Amino acid sequence: MRCMAAMILDGRALGRAIRDQVRREVEALAARDFVPNLVSLQVGESEPSRAYLASQKKACAEAGILYTHVSLDRNVTERHFLAHVDGISKNPEVTALIIQLPVPPRLDVSTAYRHMDPEKDVEGMHPANQGSLFAGKGGLLPCTALAARELVRASGTALRGKEVVIVGHSQIVGKPATILFLNEDATVTTCHIATRDLAAHTRRADVLVVAAGRPGLVRADMVKPGVVVIDVGMNYVEGAERPVGDVAFDEVSQVAGAITPVPGGVGPVTVAMLLRNTVIATAAQAARRGGGEA
Ligand code: NAP
Repeated sequence: MRCMAAMILDGRALGRAIRDQVRREVEALAARDFVPNLVSLQVGESEPSRAYLASQKKACAEAGILYTHVSLDRNVTERHFLAHVDGISKNPEVTALIIQLPVPPRLDVSTAYRHMDPEKDVEGMHPANQGSLFAGKGGLLPCTALAARELVRASGTALRGKEVVIVGHSQIVGKPATILFLNEDATVTTCHIATRDLAAHTRRADVLVVAAGRPGLVRADMVKPGVVVIDVGMNYVEGAERPVGDVAFDEVSQVAGAITPVPGGVGPVTVAMLLRNTVIATAAQAARRGGGEA
């Protein structure tokens, strides 16, 4: 970790350490003839998913995980899309499936999640896996929320009793992060577009997780000194060379105790969590097929 005013939470280093562990677990599974096999399913294309896809592919290759990308035309019918989800889920050679977001708005991704085999749902979006999250059990939990928790842990902050404020209540990030931090006995507040005075909430936070998709939404006067800031935002602003976060990094890092950069913060840890979930999924399937313990 590099030190400025705030401790910079280095997601690349943390992601690498997790991937090293994953690689050892993949070797152990492969020695028993269970090679993790992740399929990525995408409909159409988008700038954010392009970067995420490239890092998934590279990370899987390094970890020894098989990776196949299936790309469907953006005009695919819902029936055809769901048939692909069913087909991939039922393929015994495939141990893990991720649906890349966003999908075109006319497709209902929650229906697709219900069509997935929950044992292969490495994003933790099937209702059975969401139930596990709600019940505070382990298993396949959403990768970005897990990454946010790993980064808070890396800051050395114990969550029990802390004020955690989450900005954003999406299915994929904000809501699961809310439950994950609640499961750590933090006191959690979730803010969203209808929140009346966002700054009044963010200023109370000991830990602030921002996942709004609004570049520079959180400014220095909206945080208290010493706060741990996890910036999930990944915004592609016209003219900018690199994606920018939801937090005004230059000014907030002068006030915060610890902060994630963008890029190089949440993103690499999210990929590492996807790989870890792929190993968890494969190990569980291996155990069920009588190939040893999960
Ligand atoms: P999303 O589905 O668009 O959700 C954004 C959430 O923020 C919504 O709940 C929205 O509320 C809320 N919001 C928007 N503007 C707000 C404001 N001014 N004040 C308070 N709340 C506001 O996005 P997402 O999928 O959760 O992603 C959020 C960001 O994280 C994006 O930049 C995305 O690219 C990034 N991301 C990064 C990673 C990573 O690994 N680094 C992974 C996933 C996502 P309403 O729904 O009520 O409008």
